[in-house]
Amino acid sequence: MTALEANIKKLDEHLKRFRQNGIANRIAGQDVAGDGGVFQSTSPVDKSTICDVAYGTAKDIDMAAMAATDAFTTWRDMAPKERRKILINVAELIEERAEEIALLECWDTGQAMRFMSKAALRGAENFRYFADQVVQARDGQHMKSPTLMNITTRVPIGPVGVITPWNTPFMLSTWKIAPALAAGCTVVHKPAEASPLTARLLVEIAEEAGLPPGVLNTVNGFGEGAGKALCEHPAIKAIAFVGESSTGSLITKQGADTLKRNHLELGGKNPVIVFEDSDLDRALDAVIFMIYSINGERCTSSSRLIVQETIREEFEAKLTERVNNIRVGHPLDPATEIGPLVTEEHYNKVTSYFDIAREDGATIAAGGKTISDEGYFVRPTLFTNANNKMRIAQEEIFGPVLTSIPFSTEDEALTIANDIPYGLTGYVWTNDLTRALRFTDRLEAGMIWVNSENVRHLPTPFGGVKASGIGRDGGDWSFEFYMEQKHIGFATGQHTIARLGA
Ligand code: NAD
Repeated sequence: MTALEANIKKLDEHLKRFRQNGIANRIAGQDVAGDGGVFQSTSPVDKSTICDVAYGTAKDIDMAAMAATDAFTTWRDMAPKERRKILINVAELIEERAEEIALLECWDTGQAMRFMSKAALRGAENFRYFADQVVQARDGQHMKSPTLMNITTRVPIGPVGVITPWNTPFMLSTWKIAPALAAGCTVVHKPAEASPLTARLLVEIAEEAGLPPGVLNTVNGFGEGAGKALCEHPAIKAIAFVGESSTGSLITKQGADTLKRNHLELGGKNPVIVFEDSDLDRALDAVIFMIYSINGERCTSSSRLIVQETIREEFEAKLTERVNNIRVGHPLDPATEIGPLVTEEHYNKVTSYFDIAREDGATIAAGGKTISDEGYFVRPTLFTNANNKMRIAQEEIFGPVLTSIPFSTEDEALTIANDIPYGLTGYVWTNDLTRALRFTDRLEAGMIWVNSENVRHLPTPFGGVKASGIGRDGGDWSFEFYMEQKHIGFATGQHTIARLGA
């Protein structure tokens, strides 16, 4: 049996229960049928139906918000050490079931197993990291003034909504849910309609780990129904959202009447700038990894290569050769580097840019083709002879598609890099330290790596500027979102109090 056949066999075992029972909403520790009936989840690998999924509506959201409200004081007031223990249990159970999570995620989203097995473990790491912060999460400061002892303390904001996208859905959900739970909040999770499978596993794992009923609730459904209702619900105090920039703007509008606190992690069209003095072999590896791994369906992907004219020809030639070698195939084959795109709608969007590139006058140096009609497979694609005004340079394609743009001077590179509505990440390749300092200072992005691909370190702030988002996650930044700062002043003596009407 090949490794692929063995993985398909294991996947089949894990899918049985989903085929039989579908996916219900999970509210207060109970399976609840969707008020709107069901919708079908399909696999991008062969377009087959995976299972029925509860079609959640405003009614289901209301039930889940009530459950999260009821559970809030129990969870908030649980001794931090006990809460920490439960979250560590979640991490351990994720590790135990990492293979199952990865197999299901690959089938649901089309992501290659080589990346999803790591993503599942990163989900465990998120729980472990934030579990270790639980004990200090409520700590504050003391700031003495002449008449008062001022102290601050932090308290969890209350029940929160978490709305997640379909790209690496398990890892991204844990990235939001773990700090929310560590802060003492209860959660209503609305996973992406295109990838409901692993959200179900997460809530099951959390309950098995000892999370009291109602602390984490999952309502499936669509953005304009369940998602909107979550943003509008008065009992939900904040929305942690990951998704497209245009949806981020809707999230803000929908939350206006209830004065919702929003944390928005949105789209990107991130530049990687390669100067002639850089280690070009390492730069090449990083450029390829950061756009063609995870099907290019990652917010931090470097989808714009801004390359110095003096090295452009040679760099693009090597790039083209490597891109043509990338293995597209079944996501469960360990050799596969790129699997199918997540949905028909997304496949149509990504492939539409092949014509747009031609119309713009760019060259399709690699790819630009689909592969088979069986699933949503495309060849990794490289556009050259592009400039920054073209749509292929300005719009988030969110697939394995790279646009290469030349520059001559450092100033020109910076202008091109910043001339974009987005500002999530930037990658700079140079061995000139002073230039790196100067350039990163002026580059408009929330996160920048120099001579490196994106290497996530959980204590550092994660988030974007401009249309890429508002707010930061990671370390204590996550707690600032999920908690309220409270100031309390204690008089230290008999200071003068103004006497009105005396
Ligand atoms: P999307 O915005 O279409 O959907 C994301 C989630 O929002 C889904 O659960 C969807 O049902 C929900 N939603 C849609 N409309 C809604 C509404 N009106 N109210 C409430 N919820 C609503 O995004 P997507 O296509 O699933 O994901 C891809 C996008 O996510 C890309 O733009 C990508 O860059 C972005 N992303 C950003 C980050 C980051 O950290 N900045 C990380 C991953 C993905």
